[in-house]
Amino acid sequence: MPVVFGIPLIGLIQMLLGAAIVAFILIKFLTRPKKGKKGEYLIQDVHVIVGDGSEAQHQYVYVKGGVIRQISSQPIRIKTAQVIDGAGKTLMPGLIDSHVHIQGGFSCRSEEESDAFLNEKIPRIFSEAVLPYGITTIKDLDAPKHFIYKLRDKLRSGEITGPELLAVGPNFTAPDGHPANTLGSNSPWARAEMAIEVSTPEQVSAGIRELKAAGVDFLKFTYQGGDYWYFDQKLTIRKIDKALMRQIIREGRENGLNATAHVYYYDDVKELLEAGIYGIEHGILDVEIQPDDPIVALWKQSGARFVPTVNAMTYEKDPAKLTRSLHNLKVLYDAGIPIAMGTDNMLESMTGAVEHRELEYYAEAGLTPMQAIVLATKNGAEHLGIADRKGLVKAGMEADLILLSEDPAENISNIKFIDKVFRKGEIVYSNKPIQSFDLPEYMLPEGLRAAEYVSTDGTERRRISYERYAEEGVITQVSLRDGKPWAEETFRTEKNLSAVEWHYSRPADSTELDARRENGIISLKGTFKGKKQDKSFKIGEGLWFQMMDLSLPAFCNSKLDEILFYSIGTGDNRGAMSLGEFAAKKVGTEDVTVNGTVYSCIRVSMVLTMFSWAWTGLYWYDSQTGQLIQSGVKKGNRDVVQWTLAPGGEALPQ
Ligand SMILES: [Zn+2]
Repeated sequence: MPVVFGIPLIGLIQMLLGAAIVAFILIKFLTRPKKGKKGEYLIQDVHVIVGDGSEAQHQYVYVKGGVIRQISSQPIRIKTAQVIDGAGKTLMPGLIDSHVHIQGGFSCRSEEESDAFLNEKIPRIFSEAVLPYGITTIKDLDAPKHFIYKLRDKLRSGEITGPELLAVGPNFTAPDGHPANTLGSNSPWARAEMAIEVSTPEQVSAGIRELKAAGVDFLKFTYQGGDYWYFDQKLTIRKIDKALMRQIIREGRENGLNATAHVYYYDDVKELLEAGIYGIEHGILDVEIQPDDPIVALWKQSGARFVPTVNAMTYEKDPAKLTRSLHNLKVLYDAGIPIAMGTDNMLESMTGAVEHRELEYYAEAGLTPMQAIVLATKNGAEHLGIADRKGLVKAGMEADLILLSEDPAENISNIKFIDKVFRKGEIVYSNKPIQSFDLPEYMLPEGLRAAEYVSTDGTERRRISYERYAEEGVITQVSLRDGKPWAEETFRTEKNLSAVEWHYSRPADSTELDARRENGIISLKGTFKGKKQDKSFKIGEGLWFQMMDLSLPAFCNSKLDEILFYSIGTGDNRGAMSLGEFAAKKVGTEDVTVNGTVYSCIRVSMVLTMFSWAWTGLYWYDSQTGQLIQSGVKKGNRDVVQWTLAPGGEALPQ
């Protein structure tokens, strides 16, 4: 065996290797990123909206272990904390919605279906449609009981990340009352899960015992009778007996459970207030009340709380309900009635945009933005009995927080500019800002009905039809390879060419997708290369240029030099089926000759912002009409043209 310095060679190699490994680990350790511990944050120089109506500029907020530890106007120095620059940003308490329905029971007819909904849909609903909107606490006011209890347990154990959930379980109602014969009309399972139909005192007592054993936070019952529009169906519902109503309130309170009531009419509200109800849901919607109406004084004296659900009134047949809801909200607010935000949001089908809209309604009713915020923070916490730990940005409070890039106290609509959301001191949502751009309406060039582009090697073609653009905003594109169609796309767009709907079909590799944009969210469903897709992307008011290069004419006709837009990838790369952010920039003018015609063009470069080093697309648009003339890529310093307008391509016969 060879020997070096008296050591067998094998041993020497092992020694050196060992030393190298130790050195490698040491270097890794010493050069590790100096990141703060998880859950320990220092938000610096931030504008704080406290939640009680007050605010303070240039604050330093230290969060650790799920709690706000310290707030100071002087810089705080904590080496272990991850620093977040809050300059120009606003920090406020997470939103509290005191009236939601996570699962309306519309889609589930059995416990198995409900379990599937819980396990397969709920985590995404929370991570995509609730937390990103800054909603960190919700009170569910009726959902199938098995569902809501299981969900509550999974949230408590941390198995599911979501807002804090308070629940009422099934609602007391009269036999054939709401929600028994409304939500439960087509499903005996949902009816039994969502309603406790009572006509005797014994049934009330038994119901309260059941709910107490289940550990609900509050009781809820319906106190409304008569005609009831349930979507397009006119139903007659029965109201619970007055004595039973009083029993629910009294016996509930004796058992530590405060009751709130679904109610729509003046006379019913009056009876509930007289009975000592804890909270009124929805409110007086049959009349506009005046400040001197005796019910205002009665309400004030009773101490009952109020949860208006203004947004829900937009679904009512009678538009006057919305007007009355706004009017009465202001009268009650001015009278000093404690009001908490509620929306009636059906979270299985709607996003937190509903809560943001609700706050806008409060401002429309005449509240200042700050007053509206208080309803959704401090007042919400008080209504739910959790004000000792929630609803304020204050030392000692749980760190359920929203960091915003715009100030909602200035304009309540700024509530949608959410940068980060903290739930119990952990960042559960962090936004890359989605920018919106104001583009002019795109007018189709005179006579343009179709266009065709051909690849430089002549093997691929794109046929675009604008036949349906003027009337319906629809543009179609057929891609051909060696003369055979292999992909077909239909886009319905806004006038600035931002997509609203997109259908994509590529049968050759089992791709069939439908996407639509609603309330700032793109939902994408279908199959991509044989794999099932069900995704949603938050896009806010950003541009969705799914047609990519064909979407830019409106930008070319605008005064803007650079825009950001979004597009869902359909290629073979890692960006496939995810939302990419692109930047398009005007980089001069250039004459381009295609098929013997000279076009005076605007030259546009495009990058995928995350990988701007990887690829730069080049596009030339006619500076008069905005029409795409040719496109390619930048390779080093060279322009490589890949597509050009086909001969006669501006006006192809169909
Ligand atoms: Zn409701």
